Amino acid sequence: MREFGGGGAVPTGIEKGASHLRPPWHRLLAGGRRQRRSYVIGVLALLLVGVAVIFPFTQKVWAISVDGQVVGWAEDKEQVADLGATILKEDGSPPEAAGRVSYSEVPKRQVNLSAEEDLRKELARTLLGLREGYTITVAGEPLVRVASEADAKAVIEGIKDSFNSGPEVEVKDVTLQEEVSFRAEMVKASEIRGIEEAVTYLLRGTDETKEYEVKSGDSLWSIARAHDLRVADLEKANPGLKGYLQPGQKLNLVVPKPYVNVITQEEKTVTEKIPFETQTVKDSTLYTYEKKVRTPGQAGSKQVTYSIVRQNGQVLEQEVINTVVEKEPVTQVVAVGTKKPTIVGTGSYVWPVSRGGTITSRFGRRGSSFHEGVDIAAPTGTPVLAADDGVVVLAGWKGGYGKCIIVEHGNGSATLYGHLSQILVQQGHKVEKGKTIGLVGSTGKSTGPHLHFEIMQSGVKKNPLNYFTHK
Ligand SMILES: [Zn+2]
Repeated sequence: MREFGGGGAVPTGIEKGASHLRPPWHRLLAGGRRQRRSYVIGVLALLLVGVAVIFPFTQKVWAISVDGQVVGWAEDKEQVADLGATILKEDGSPPEAAGRVSYSEVPKRQVNLSAEEDLRKELARTLLGLREGYTITVAGEPLVRVASEADAKAVIEGIKDSFNSGPEVEVKDVTLQEEVSFRAEMVKASEIRGIEEAVTYLLRGTDETKEYEVKSGDSLWSIARAHDLRVADLEKANPGLKGYLQPGQKLNLVVPKPYVNVITQEEKTVTEKIPFETQTVKDSTLYTYEKKVRTPGQAGSKQVTYSIVRQNGQVLEQEVINTVVEKEPVTQVVAVGTKKPTIVGTGSYVWPVSRGGTITSRFGRRGSSFHEGVDIAAPTGTPVLAADDGVVVLAGWKGGYGKCIIVEHGNGSATLYGHLSQILVQQGHKVEKGKTIGLVGSTGKSTGPHLHFEIMQSGVKKNPLNYFTHK
């Protein structure tokens, strides 16, 4: 108000007028024209000065606040309100957020009006919660916001490192199939992601998470089926998964649709076995039923280097680029006998069932078929004896005979023992007359425990009972 006091020019002017000896009102009414005009000009000048001096103190502008914090000053409240509404609308925020903006009148002289651009930026920053950050774009599409340049770089490194295949692998090259870049810009604080979260999002293409805990008896197939997935999807969602599942293991069920595809080129060197080969040699010092290992085989080993190209951890290509043999395999040499057995049976037979047994079916026609031996019933487990000296030429399952032994006696004769519960000799073994070679049973086509016994002479089945005079 000190400057308002400058209005003291008014009385000064009057005093000047007072130098004439007439009262001013008289001079106004009756004074000369010239004097009256100068008086009017004086008053008008006074008003103009007054307005010029006072106006800045009386003119008001709007201080604009968001959440109580002043963001700028403007003359036109409506224009600011429109600006705020446009910002919210463009962002897709609810229009009610405009209620966070408040206005208060302040004298214009105390503030500097904000430039419209500055006001727009401040409104956007405060209304939308923007801050400085970095936007990561993939193939030009902005996908992820992070807090800093260092974070943006760490995300890209994190993507490249995400499919590390293990210690024996040497990563030669990692490339991203899509162009990934980042730029500084104002971003919404609420959209800023941590490094790990950003990596996961870019590699999976979604924030969705769904896990399954493996239960005993589960297989990849059963889990895939239960969740309407394919096994290949499960493998994609769980890179590095081995076929063997352990109860309690967590499987990711969200099939990735990555924004960024990571191509890794690796080299992997592993030690592999080289299997040995087997060579047979003839040996006239061994019987035809004998075999002897002359040189035991030994597996070799080799260092094999593979070049592997993976996409998101899944093998695309694999080829052997180098092989170094560390140890050659040793071929196994087996001698096979060529000497004919000289064992010749005595020509007389012992009864093949220990403690006799009971004859239940004789040699000859039996209904529409022909019974080619004799059936001797005895309890299961009763010893079965070699009827004469010989060599076992068959010891194993033989169709309806079940577990069966055939012994050749070297003089054109052979005996057969069927339906055994156990075989106690091996093919190629020499057996002596009267030695236990098996146990009575009911294997094969049999209705109860018994020995089916045959005698062959030069390939012809004979009636066994003809060889035993006492029965
Ligand atoms: Zn029989």
